[in-house]
Amino acid sequence: MPQGIRFTAVFNVSALPALIPGGWYIGFACKQCRQHFAILHEPTGTGTLEISGPASFSATCPNCDARGDYSATELVQFQAAQGGPSSTA
Ligand SMILES: [Zn+2]
Repeated sequence: MPQGIRFTAVFNVSALPALIPGGWYIGFACKQCRQHFAILHEPTGTGTLEISGPASFSATCPNCDARGDYSATELVQFQAAQGGPSSTA
């Protein structure tokens, strides 16, 4: 059965400070430096979560400090390659 999350509000979100290598996360690709950063743990651990909804997110990139507004369609699921606040996956 597909598992999904529907986001339906405006969120101010913070990047997760440290990622577990091999863990799956939900986040964004920074519009300035293109690095991925995570805002949520991906609860299925598989990267196959279905994300939907009209939400928007205001987030600050932990790599370059660029603040950006992102929509739910811009959420990406990625697997952390190494420790630290970001991944280039
Ligand atoms: Zn950035």
